[in-house]
Amino acid sequence: MKNKLWIAIMLAGSVSAGAAEHAHWGYEGQEDPAHWGKLSPDFSLCETGKNQSPVDIQGALKTHHAQLKLAFQPGAQQIINNGHTVQVNVSQGNTLVLDGKTFTMQQFHFHAPSENEIDGKQFPLEAHFVYKADDGALTVLALMFQAGKVNPQLAHAWNQLPATAGEPARLSTPVDIQALIPPHANYYRFSGSLTTPPCSEGVSWLVLDKPVSASAEQIDQFRSVMHHANNRPLQPLNGRVIVD
Ligand SMILES: [Zn+2]
Repeated sequence: MKNKLWIAIMLAGSVSAGAAEHAHWGYEGQEDPAHWGKLSPDFSLCETGKNQSPVDIQGALKTHHAQLKLAFQPGAQQIINNGHTVQVNVSQGNTLVLDGKTFTMQQFHFHAPSENEIDGKQFPLEAHFVYKADDGALTVLALMFQAGKVNPQLAHAWNQLPATAGEPARLSTPVDIQALIPPHANYYRFSGSLTTPPCSEGVSWLVLDKPVSASAEQIDQFRSVMHHANNRPLQPLNGRVIVD
């Protein structure tokens, strides 16, 4: 009897864990950002969190923070359309040092239109470079794009832009990440969250204050493989301080 009860508890546990893992979310209809917090108990922070992203970057406090300490490592990359975004998985060795802690880039991906705004201005495209430290801490470096000249680095990824969601494919010409991120860029810094479920907080956000260019066609290409906007709406600052 005891054993049977234990098995029942185990099964119930694994079923609910599985459901949480696979809870569907999206940007439209009943799975849109307004519903994320209700789709799974694991997503509750999407509704109740007080330090959520994205935000409108306004009233930043001028400080003299150090230049970003970025290091880059060329190497193989994979591109994947996961249905929520197009993501480039990068090889190890791209690092960022923040407050003496080393973070390693895991991947970068895109949102159209931008998620964060700067002084109320939304951009047509935003890239998120996601870095992780050995202790699991996350830093996201955000880069805005505005319509203009063709972006040659984006072109390397867009050559193999996956039209539908599926498995990762190896990029025949890797993106030169160092050439994509402008050197000596100034940035805004604040504490926020993942902009997708489970909306985990404690993420250090670094948003570069100057956009780079991408052609209108490159921006449209991304939109057309996503089929819909993939930006979470702005979240309240709730007293958070943004430093510049
Ligand atoms: Zn993102």
